[in-house]
Amino acid sequence: MTKYIFITGGVLSSLGKGISASSIGCLLESRGLRVTLQKIDPYLNVDPGTMSPFQHGEVYVTDDGAETDLDLGHYERFTSLSTGQKNNFTAGQIYQSIISKEREGDYLGRTVQVVPHVTDEIKRFIKRVARGRRLDVVIVEVGGTVGDIEGLPFLEAIRQFPLDIGEENCLYIYLTLVPYIRSANEIKTKPTQHSVARLREIGIQPEILLCRTEKPFSKEVKRKIALFCNVTEEAIIQAIDVDSIYEVPLIYKEQGLDRTIIKRLGLPRRRQDLSQWEEMLRRLKNPSTSTEIAVIGKYVRLQDAYKSINEALIHAGAANSCRVKTKWVDAEEIEKEGADKLLERARGILVPGGFGDRGIEGKIEAIRCARQKKVPFLGICLGMQCAVIEFARRVCGLKSANSSEFNPRTPHAVIDLLLEQRKVKDKGGTMRLGSYPCQIPPDSLARKAYGKSRIGERHRHRYEFNMQYKRQLTEAGMELSGLSPDGRLVEIIEISNHPWFVACQFHPEFKSKLSQPHPLFRDFIKASLC
Ligand code: GLN
Repeated sequence: MTKYIFITGGVLSSLGKGISASSIGCLLESRGLRVTLQKIDPYLNVDPGTMSPFQHGEVYVTDDGAETDLDLGHYERFTSLSTGQKNNFTAGQIYQSIISKEREGDYLGRTVQVVPHVTDEIKRFIKRVARGRRLDVVIVEVGGTVGDIEGLPFLEAIRQFPLDIGEENCLYIYLTLVPYIRSANEIKTKPTQHSVARLREIGIQPEILLCRTEKPFSKEVKRKIALFCNVTEEAIIQAIDVDSIYEVPLIYKEQGLDRTIIKRLGLPRRRQDLSQWEEMLRRLKNPSTSTEIAVIGKYVRLQDAYKSINEALIHAGAANSCRVKTKWVDAEEIEKEGADKLLERARGILVPGGFGDRGIEGKIEAIRCARQKKVPFLGICLGMQCAVIEFARRVCGLKSANSSEFNPRTPHAVIDLLLEQRKVKDKGGTMRLGSYPCQIPPDSLARKAYGKSRIGERHRHRYEFNMQYKRQLTEAGMELSGLSPDGRLVEIIEISNHPWFVACQFHPEFKSKLSQPHPLFRDFIKASLC
């Protein structure tokens, strides 16, 4: 029997429900349990694919091509999971499914209602992630904050869950804030009391409270929370602020959280092995050297937009026992002030993915600087496309080279749509999405990094390297070091005569884990240390 853990949160948003859910996943896996995680988003968009990174942060892409919430990235980074379409769903998907059933007459003329039809559909989507799989635990994270109107049908659905599968198979965990008020020099429990009361009003009694707190709190505070929220004292976990998110599983473990969960759900008790996690964390916290990497983007004030890149750099730092200092540089600033000055101190330059032409010339200028000054360079997706444009313009003398995304009339569309893509008009779900295989020749930096000739990496783009320019570019010193197995699509490029210049059409950052830093990021950081 698969057990379900439901994680909700209140008082404030941004308390880190995703990290909490991931940390619980990490701890349960360390005890040999088979776990999956699922994120429910109560907003009406069908998926985050068409949402602005300003509002929603990064769009995380899975192997099977789902454009999902960035919390799935945490799930994968903290566990051995490879998530997919079924690990995330939104209110938009629920209503879309219900409305199409209604149009097809599936409800046989009955009135279609939030209870039971919407709640039944939500429960079906929750169970779908476990169907046909032998899982011990499904951890379900409900997005939003308790008290939000749009979250109500989801809370009602999880409230009903024990009626369907038995109370002993369900566990509610609640993430809350226990603030420290400086002027009074006091820890305050009232916000938690009120928000738990709100949850109990709708029929959910949380059994474990994860209390975000700046300072450790006393036994009395614990007792008070326990009494007012109707939970046992051992089930009150202090989620104290830490330097690295990767410490969170250990903080929970010290307070016996995994033991409490295992006991409550009657899961098998196995020996715990967290040694690899602890070793990586030790390296992360005790670097023997440091490096500075400039990341050139257009959402630099909003780092959630580049979440996986940021984390992949941290993992690569740990792999090299090195602290990575990331300098976020606005591509438009480079357009105004030039790359040489702004990137002076960078020991590595990274140009990540993106859409639209804002800041493009700044990114191209940063790449020129990396190429000419022989600074290690990693280009990702749009970053690779810009590297191709830069090379075509400066090295091959095709002055007006561009991507047809930015200039549809360019005489040299070195980056272009494939013929078969030109007819597609819809914005949602029309990209090349998800994992595709790639073949890597020997004697390339890519091969050295991966140590194998065939890899699979995740994509999210429309435009491609234009094969008509293959000869001209390769003769001038660009190496195509990754191709689709049929040889039609360019997946990785390198530049000879440079210490480390690698750019890829896919997104390696999505597959980096603390326990398995991504080979390209690892070697990029290593090159920056030379
Ligand atoms: N805008 C480019 C394309 O659609 C690159 C996309 C990206 O960097 N993710 O091909």
